[in-house]
Amino acid sequence: MTSDTDASKKLSLTGLPASQIEEHLKLLGEPAYRARQIYNWIHHRKVESFEEMTDLSKLLRKRLSDRYLLRTIVLEKKNTALDGTEKYLWKLSDHRFVESVVIPEARRNTVCISSQVGCSLGCSFCATGSMGLIRNLTAGEIVEQVLQVRKLSEHKITNVVFMGMGEPFINYRRSIQASQIMGDPQGLAIATKKITISTSGVVPKIYQYTDDGHPFGLAISLHAPNQSLREQIMPIAGKFPLDELMASITHYMRAKKRNRVTFEYVLLHGVNDTASEARQLISLLSPIRCKLNVIPCNQNYLGFSPPPPEHLEKFVSILMNAPFTVTVRKNRGEDITAACGQLAVEHQEKSIYIR
Ligand code: SF4
Repeated sequence: MTSDTDASKKLSLTGLPASQIEEHLKLLGEPAYRARQIYNWIHHRKVESFEEMTDLSKLLRKRLSDRYLLRTIVLEKKNTALDGTEKYLWKLSDHRFVESVVIPEARRNTVCISSQVGCSLGCSFCATGSMGLIRNLTAGEIVEQVLQVRKLSEHKITNVVFMGMGEPFINYRRSIQASQIMGDPQGLAIATKKITISTSGVVPKIYQYTDDGHPFGLAISLHAPNQSLREQIMPIAGKFPLDELMASITHYMRAKKRNRVTFEYVLLHGVNDTASEARQLISLLSPIRCKLNVIPCNQNYLGFSPPPPEHLEKFVSILMNAPFTVTVRKNRGEDITAACGQLAVEHQEKSIYIR
């Protein structure tokens, strides 16, 4: 199922911008201002049913609930790690599962959300990639992760990143629509620069994203500084080679004069963590206004391991000569498998995976 309707065939209003809700209301013979009222109830007052929209007539509330939905994901389980990281497992209406993770930090609290059930790109170090793609999430299912987490989390959410399950640029239209609702001052009202879309390098969509002029941040999952290594660990590099990826990022940077792009680099011991690779990273990224996030991988079941501390220190000390900002991210929530590359595998029904 990849349409925007729920398994019950009702459309979720949570994933629609106010202008589209207005169109639906018109069909019911209702004035345009009702759409704003409903949009406000959904995103500001965070109601979960039409029944709670007490300034609408009973008849309209009934007509809305006969045709539309507000909630399509249900919390199956919430775990909190020793470091405060929260992992939410959501059950979808077709009994699939996706996850969101809240990462609390000193100055911000980020929710990392999913855009697909599974992922077709098969990065060798990623638990989600080993599942294959099951389906795209609807815009409503994406927005709801943030709406519900805002109600349930111990932390006030300030940032959103599309770094959970899936590749958001393969589910482009719905990921963008969800981001627009999140960034709309009348919607979830999250500052657009605090919403980041992370891609593993779907080059045509980077051009489209740039040319569409979207105001959200862009992050690139790089993970290798040269084509042959990237192709080994990220099959997408066979389709969209590194030089084409870098050209698309240059196009983005030219269009976004004041922005910088973030590169993510998961460190896999014995794979991409030598001094030579650190130097190659400097030459590759120096021409670009960017920030590099180095993330030692988790000890996950796919057999990769993080570099030992002295090895990590050497890799990072070489990067300290780079003309761009380098941060080393501590892996968070490892005791609840909430860290990068570890999201939901165990709850899916393995027999229906599509590769
Ligand atoms: S790292 Fe991202 S793009 Fe690669 S398989 Fe995992 S979810 Fe997909």
